[in-house]
Amino acid sequence: MERPDLVSAEIVEIDENPDLAERHNVGSVPHTLFGEDHAALGLMPEERFVVELVTLKDASEFLGEMAAQAQGPAPERVDLAIVGAGPAGLSAAIYAARSGLSAVVLEGGPIGGQVSLTPTVENYPGFASVPGKKLMEIMAAHAREYTHIVTDAQVEDAAEENGRFELRTRKGTFSARAVLLATGAAYRALGAPGEDRYRGFGVSFCSSCDGYLYKGRQAVVVGGGNTALTDALHLKHLGVETTIIHRRDAFRAEKHLQDSVAREGIGVRFNSEVVEITGDDKKVTAVRVRDNAAGTTAELPTDAVFIAVGHVPNNDLAKKLELELDGGGFVSVDRAMRTSRPRVYAAGDLTGGSMQIVTAVSEGSLAALSAFEDLGTPYWKEGGGGDSAGH
Ligand code: NAP
Repeated sequence: MERPDLVSAEIVEIDENPDLAERHNVGSVPHTLFGEDHAALGLMPEERFVVELVTLKDASEFLGEMAAQAQGPAPERVDLAIVGAGPAGLSAAIYAARSGLSAVVLEGGPIGGQVSLTPTVENYPGFASVPGKKLMEIMAAHAREYTHIVTDAQVEDAAEENGRFELRTRKGTFSARAVLLATGAAYRALGAPGEDRYRGFGVSFCSSCDGYLYKGRQAVVVGGGNTALTDALHLKHLGVETTIIHRRDAFRAEKHLQDSVAREGIGVRFNSEVVEITGDDKKVTAVRVRDNAAGTTAELPTDAVFIAVGHVPNNDLAKKLELELDGGGFVSVDRAMRTSRPRVYAAGDLTGGSMQIVTAVSEGSLAALSAFEDLGTPYWKEGGGGDSAGH
């Protein structure tokens, strides 16, 4: 502390002070309390810590706005418009700008996409274990070194006019020679009765957002992929009594996660499906689970249901631009991330596949390099380049 006369700090071990943990609703660590009025979850970069200490407010948006103000207004005519500020879009921004293309990133939701909601990322090379939000803050700061990220700029419409793409947002219309769609994917709903009724009242799609509310209580996680097992481990570490319910007799998640689930003693019900989510007039109290092997259905009391049954692509813009989609609605791309439409590229979860952060980052870079090749006429592209090339 530079000024102990102004600021005093204390580090509290919650296992030894459960009363304090209870009083301040501490469900994961680090949990920083700035006096009684403001709290922050997760590891914070020093700059953000200091701003929150002074303002007693969440500073992530504020710092983003400060960075944007320092950069000045975003250009409305660019070579490449990148839609989506997840790992694919941010990586593309870095590569596009470094190639010499003018670019802008347009984002309607929070920066960082789905990764920002991932409690812990353990397979992004260079980071043995990092909160998803923190990883994306680092990536966004890197991308801002090169280009503008316009937030609150959901692209509502996209059309090609006179060889340029016009993207309409509430922050203005952006005109670009090429477009990269990195709009990601959204959670798939389970489709069970009670799911919509209790959403936000026990039904959740985000363990890192809501998990701490169920410390010392019971939760079920539905699904058998990497997300389900990552969520179950996170909940277990928060002190939530967790059971995974999976419709098959084996997980599709990677072996490392399966081993961790077994080691942590997390309950698993294989061959089982949640057929209904039930509750009282306020919140979830149980799920009805069908055991497909035994052919029976029974009630399992629970306080929360975390649904992790995969994703559906955010393909509205892709459809507007009449891109070719695969059977699951993901955008079809070639190895250089070119779509069926010249000068339109797609990268990240929107293209389906393995949906890893590292592949999204890679696809973003490939898409930006393809845009560079198609828009310019690099000397190594015989007869290529120019606006008409692209597929
Ligand atoms: P996923 O791999 O598609 O798994 C979805 C799971 O939900 C599957 O086990 C599936 O069962 C089950 N499921 C689907 N519909 C269901 C329904 N209606 N009722 C019950 N169960 C249903 O999805 P994900 O786990 O969200 O992962 C998506 C992608 O992100 C994957 O490529 C994954 O590798 C990646 N990811 C990676 C990490 C990591 O590397 N640590 C973390 C999170 C996500 P079936 O098995 O029977 O199909």
